[in-house]
Amino acid sequence: MFHFFQDNDNQNNNRKRREPNDPNRDSRNPFRGDNGKQLLLIILSCLMFSLLAYNAASGMRDNNTSEEITYNRFVSMVENNEVKSVEVSNDGTLWVKPVSSSGSTTASYKVVMVGDENGLNELLKGRDITYSKKSVSVGREIISSIVSLVIPLLIFFVGFNFIMRSMGRGGGMMGVGKSKAKLYVQQDTGVTFADVAGEEEAKESMQEVVDFLHNPAKYTSIGAKLPKGVLLVGPPGTGKTLLAKAVAGEAGVPFFSLSGSEFVEMFVGVGASRVRDLFEEAKKQAPCIVFIDEIDAIGKSRDSHYGGNDEREQTLNQLLAEMDGFDSSKALLILGATNRPEVLDKALLRPGRFDRRVIVDRPDLKGRISILKVHAAKVMLDETVDFQEIALATSGACGSDLANMVNEAAILAVKHGRKAVSQKDLLEAVEVVLVGQEKKERIMSKEERRIVSYHEVGHALVAALQKHAEPVQKITIVPRTMGALGYVMQVPEEEKYLNSKKELQAMIVGYLAGRAAEEIVFGDVTTGASNDIEKATQICKAMITQYGMSETFGLMGLARQEDQYLSGKAYMDCGDETAAQVDREIMNMLKAAYEEAKVLLRANRDVLDRIAGYLIVQETITGKEFMRIMNTVISEREQAADPMQSENAEKAEELSDGI
Ligand code: ADP
Repeated sequence: MFHFFQDNDNQNNNRKRREPNDPNRDSRNPFRGDNGKQLLLIILSCLMFSLLAYNAASGMRDNNTSEEITYNRFVSMVENNEVKSVEVSNDGTLWVKPVSSSGSTTASYKVVMVGDENGLNELLKGRDITYSKKSVSVGREIISSIVSLVIPLLIFFVGFNFIMRSMGRGGGMMGVGKSKAKLYVQQDTGVTFADVAGEEEAKESMQEVVDFLHNPAKYTSIGAKLPKGVLLVGPPGTGKTLLAKAVAGEAGVPFFSLSGSEFVEMFVGVGASRVRDLFEEAKKQAPCIVFIDEIDAIGKSRDSHYGGNDEREQTLNQLLAEMDGFDSSKALLILGATNRPEVLDKALLRPGRFDRRVIVDRPDLKGRISILKVHAAKVMLDETVDFQEIALATSGACGSDLANMVNEAAILAVKHGRKAVSQKDLLEAVEVVLVGQEKKERIMSKEERRIVSYHEVGHALVAALQKHAEPVQKITIVPRTMGALGYVMQVPEEEKYLNSKKELQAMIVGYLAGRAAEEIVFGDVTTGASNDIEKATQICKAMITQYGMSETFGLMGLARQEDQYLSGKAYMDCGDETAAQVDREIMNMLKAAYEEAKVLLRANRDVLDRIAGYLIVQETITGKEFMRIMNTVISEREQAADPMQSENAEKAEELSDGI
């Protein structure tokens, strides 16, 4: 457990962070990804077509034009009897056919008339030149307009329509509606069950599936049907993808891997066509495994509670239809992974679809030790390494956190010029993963360092004074990148699955002790306690609304969990008046806990001062140093209060030593 002194700048940063897997992320942007590029290409091609057609039409309109000559040249041509005929159009342009011209259109000249028609008549008078007025061909004008305007438009609409229809049909031109499954097919994942640690129950459930993929006939011969779909449920990073890969690896079958959000696009029908395509491809390669990660992106319930979306619903319908459609004896297994099973459509979960649910939860102490071992097998370790201690310090961490910690530890070992990873590196890596890197360049003022020291020692002292609290492992005032200006690291002596009411109350007092120390010592308070306040309030709320631990409401359940595996947050499920009463009750609990923290700290002000003073100088102290100073100060205090008694105690000790 960590007690943070919250950096004011960083308070809101975490809240603003977007879920990387949010399926709605940028999904409205039509120019996103490959499809956006394709659409752009189509539009550009249409524009090019239009331009070409326009040019062709212009050419048609001016198709008498060959070469433009000056009026003077035309006059000299007339005078030299080189002109056969002259046509004049309304805009004063002359179309001149020379005598040598044999064809009808090729060798003609265009001349802009200078002066008026009388002058021209004068020039041509008495010569053997056919003179006529050019009649404007309405038909030709209309045709040229059609060519320049209507045809490009027609091309655009026909093209667009064709694309839309081909997308609906599956794949088709440019493959907009094509499943990306082919891109993600792996013939050999190279992962086996030995790579997945700490998820024994989940592995056991999957063993049967592997056997089925190995030998479907064994099951089908006695009429047993095997699950078509298995839903892997659990928080992010617990190894769902890894487990799916291990199933494929163990069974030695191809592995298709896609994310639910990859199906859903801006065009309605694309997702459905991708699902069709995926199943077609998978059926060809059966026996195989299709793994759909974040299946909630398409499998969200179709009722309005979670917001509807045509494209998603069509995709889901197609998935349901495909799952019904294939014969399970084909040894095609669909594995879905989600961390929000509660939002999934009921139809997806009924027998014959995802009828088996495998929970891949956060590992327990034993699980964490074995995950650490799996990942540490790839790095050099020295003899100081104790996985038990690391596993105890990482309660609540998932597989990916632990993998990350081992890697961080290896990097730290290299940084410190060591050849093997030591326990110190691993402990430091735990902190790097949980609270970020040390922020060495951050310079805090002397006053701020004093405040942070007292705040942290306040937490640690109250935790040490209450026997229900976990022992203190480390206290530091070195700021970290994830927002903590200082923190206390507490490590439980053993893994706990239950918390008693007294333990929860002790936790609340511990959380508020930092703020209490600030008030007692400085007579003022800072913004540093925001994280503590949030956590203390959460515990109070859960005690009242979920755990039935309040006098006022007794065993009444007043809240329901929103999602079990993601935030674990609960929403109130009671009347407004009750909710207001709950708030008042929370306030009273917090006030009482704060008062208790202040009483404990005032009674031990001497210890608080001594350790805080030491921490300001040292910046980081271990739990052992902390306990040594605390015990020294307490025994000094007792001696000062009753010197006789302590003298007797010393004598008694000497005597017992002699015996
Ligand atoms: P999820 O799909 O549940 O979000 P992943 O399977 O993608 O999690 O896990 C990410 C990484 O974390 C894995 O590649 C692996 O290195 C590590 N990991 C997670 N869980 C385990 C586990 N149970 N055993 C070993 N490694 C694990």
